[in-house]
Amino acid sequence: MNLKRSLSYLIVLLAWIAVISKSYAAEAKLDWTALEDEAVTLLSRYIQVDTTNPPGDELKAAQFLKAILERDGIEARVIESAPGRANIYARLKGNGAKKAIVLMHHMDVVPAEARQWKEPPFSGAIKDGVIWGRGAIDNKGGGVMGLMTLLALKRQNVQLKGDVIFLGGARNDKKKMLGAGFLLEKHPELFKDVSVVLNEGGGIRLGEDGRARLYSVGVAEKVPLWLKLTAAGSPGHGASPGDNQAVLKLIAALARIATYQSPIKVVPEVQKFYADSAAAAPANRRQQYSDLRKALQDPVFAAEFGAARDGVPLPFRRPCR
Ligand SMILES: [Zn+2]
Repeated sequence: MNLKRSLSYLIVLLAWIAVISKSYAAEAKLDWTALEDEAVTLLSRYIQVDTTNPPGDELKAAQFLKAILERDGIEARVIESAPGRANIYARLKGNGAKKAIVLMHHMDVVPAEARQWKEPPFSGAIKDGVIWGRGAIDNKGGGVMGLMTLLALKRQNVQLKGDVIFLGGARNDKKKMLGAGFLLEKHPELFKDVSVVLNEGGGIRLGEDGRARLYSVGVAEKVPLWLKLTAAGSPGHGASPGDNQAVLKLIAALARIATYQSPIKVVPEVQKFYADSAAAAPANRRQQYSDLRKALQDPVFAAEFGAARDGVPLPFRRPCR
């Protein structure tokens, strides 16, 4: 994770919360350099808490975060949803003039194969302005931004108009909800007066000058499409396989699925997203993004659009497929 970029996100988040707070301007100035150093150290340490899922083991992460919050006098609750699986919840109180916001992240990470990494994935190594580690981006970086937000608001004694809630969630397992869904069902009182949840996914895009140019909001989630394939063929000895083999049919079918290109259909939300964000897009893309539906009628652009990232986060690149 790039430190400069991540700090800019943090500043944007804090500034945004400052807007909804009451007397931020009157508080003593924040030492941004010290806050940056602290955020970097905390993210590095957080990465070292191995929460590879499976099994998740978010309880370790929840206890790690609780200790940090409570050191600063912020009460935090660790709420277990299954053995070893837990959520963390902390709430800074406002005066109730506005509804509460939740800064949420998930504490587990996907598995990492150490031999594929330049630095050990759970080292949290800090080198050349970059923090290395599984979860640096997804989603412990976001978690540390929320954490630093609470710490900074508390230290500055900001008089909030609305409550600010820090939430670290466990990942659901195959059968049961263990994170936010579990909390909503078993502890709905935790979300009283909540109006907004800020989670991973949308993102804030920065310009060359490091200032926020675009705040994007997710309006839908991708969903998995589970397919079960069954192939039938003639049985026989492996030393003299015939042409009618179930395995070969299965491989051919999988290859067709892997290379399948669904037709592009630009839904209204996607059309509007690209139109609204065209000004923040690379200069050579602005015209096409301002009317994506029309631009995709050009097969050359359609092919480039499908292949190039253009600095656009992946979820926004192919949402219309
Ligand atoms: Zn994630």
